[in-house]
Amino acid sequence: MFGRLLLLLATFVSLALPLRAQDLSALARYEPDRSAITQQGRQTEITLGLSQPVIYRVFLLAAPYRLVVDFREVNFGTNAPRDLLGGTDAITNLRWGAFRPGWSRMVAQLNGPVRLVSSEERTDDATEIRIKLEPVPVEKFAPRKGAADSALWDLPQPAQVPNAHRRQDGSRPLVVVLDPGHGGIDPGAEDGGAHEADIVLGFARQLRDQLRRAGMTVVMTRDQDVFVPLETRVTVARAAGADLFLSLHADSIAEGQASGSTIYRLADHAEDEATRKLVARHDRDDILAGVDLDGQGDQVAHVLVDLARRETQPRSVRLSQVLAGAIKGAGLHMHKHPVQGADFSVLKSPDIPSVLIELGFLSSPADRKRLQDPDWRARMAEAITRGVETWAQSDAAEAKLLRQ
Ligand SMILES: [Zn+2]
Repeated sequence: MFGRLLLLLATFVSLALPLRAQDLSALARYEPDRSAITQQGRQTEITLGLSQPVIYRVFLLAAPYRLVVDFREVNFGTNAPRDLLGGTDAITNLRWGAFRPGWSRMVAQLNGPVRLVSSEERTDDATEIRIKLEPVPVEKFAPRKGAADSALWDLPQPAQVPNAHRRQDGSRPLVVVLDPGHGGIDPGAEDGGAHEADIVLGFARQLRDQLRRAGMTVVMTRDQDVFVPLETRVTVARAAGADLFLSLHADSIAEGQASGSTIYRLADHAEDEATRKLVARHDRDDILAGVDLDGQGDQVAHVLVDLARRETQPRSVRLSQVLAGAIKGAGLHMHKHPVQGADFSVLKSPDIPSVLIELGFLSSPADRKRLQDPDWRARMAEAITRGVETWAQSDAAEAKLLRQ
């Protein structure tokens, strides 16, 4: 409702401004009236109307088949990608939004292998990006062509095999990595006008300040409304030399009436159907955001990872229990199963104790209200800080014992 009002207001303002002032705007705007996806014979044509020319690139990815278009930042406003769908069944899903600072991305999920017939940017009287696709047999599919042809594109580095990291023993400030889930092209859960990506970022900033006041060093995997692939979140934690990793979420669960904070630690698989769906959705969000999962799964790396994880896992379990205790102790509402195991990708750091906190569920009206209540947020940040302190003390004591 509010978004619609803003949009109307924006339209009104831009009509009222002289043309010259619009030209000075640095950001290209997406123009829905000049955009379409159509089917012409065997070919699918995507036309994107823009207010001014942008640098862009197009490439294809496999598993699942996707078309990715990266642009110099485009303002998509409140236009929904789904409004472009429907003209063809060659494209089954569409997403767009901020990808990293200064860059935007559009990802179209395809119903089979295609070839890029052409892609061009027309700038005659108005700017238009036109992309033509055509189905091809699997063996003719050429993924990633065009993906790495320019140094302009600062794309995520693949994760490294773990460095040796000295376990914390209380002799230096604790390094905490906070990971606000989702962001940019991936808004996360949306319910009752609230967006998970915004809520968890706001809370993470608050928690960061609280942890710093307690003397800890805090690094965030994102501090803006920007997309960060799951794998990069783990890489950021390793690069920061994290002693622990807290991923922050506020998802929606369709089934049952999930409410209350829940702490997840890594397990081989989720314990119930709702959690399985939650894990699958987070991995799917990454795929829809155009992350290329090809080339993962190196055997040697896996063996090293398993060895390191054997030592880290009990520490993550304790972290999840201590945090749940601290949140409960502060009188904050918890899920009926407050500590659960699940195979979330961001929890797979082999050598960093990691948990994922569902602060609450956006699908629960009571949780949604709490998540937006400053008093509740302050108490939650305080409880998590106490929990981290308690865990760090016992973890450091154990480290000293092991060294003797
Ligand atoms: Zn989430």
